[in-house]
Amino acid sequence: NKINIAIDGPAAAGKSTIAKRVAEALRMVYVDTGAMYRAITLAHLNNQETSFKELVGQLELRLINDDGQRVLLNGEDITDRIRENDITENVSFVASQQEVREFLVQLQQLMTRDKGVVMDGRDIGTTVIPDAELKIYMIASVEERANRRLLDNAARGIVSTYDQLVADISERDHLDMTRDISPLSKAEDAIQIDTTGLTIDKVTERILALAEE
Ligand code: C5P
Repeated sequence: NKINIAIDGPAAAGKSTIAKRVAEALRMVYVDTGAMYRAITLAHLNNQETSFKELVGQLELRLINDDGQRVLLNGEDITDRIRENDITENVSFVASQQEVREFLVQLQQLMTRDKGVVMDGRDIGTTVIPDAELKIYMIASVEERANRRLLDNAARGIVSTYDQLVADISERDHLDMTRDISPLSKAEDAIQIDTTGLTIDKVTERILALAEE
């Protein structure tokens, strides 16, 4: 019995880590849609004079499931590059562009057509897969999210400070929740999980139990 699982929530709430674990456990395909918006942000920063309409018409975006997700833009592996600060600082602006959202939502809907997908993002339960069999809305305190991101970034070799991360996360949440097109919000039928103080294992177990119902 194949299902789709939608996981949404604010920045750095643990969505990707958990979505990846859940997908592994259930042998489903994991799709990190934030990485897709980040990939287009990189293309935009490299071609700032090109309109968004033209930009999305030109690029070739590929996602490869291999112990997580690798992202290829025009054949180049940009998985690590799109985690850097210049991308994070500009991604919410790029994600607010109608041409960008139309392009990516259509691509994401194609990927979920045959089911068996765990997809994380901001508008998955509300817009991309409104009929997903299971919807999770994941939140955590800003302090905990900044601390987790601090560790993540250190592991990736990205220099950041706690204060800078609190500011970045708050700013991105504000932009994502107030944009005109499919802003971040909890789908009516989503189950909210506050991961503050919970281990990755605990949250994963909870979602696996819900997926079995
Ligand atoms: O998940 P991540 O933090 O990598 O997402 C980066 C940005 O991409 C978000 O802050 C948001 O602006 C945008 N995004 C979006 N819709 C999604 C996923 C991400 O607008 N489904």
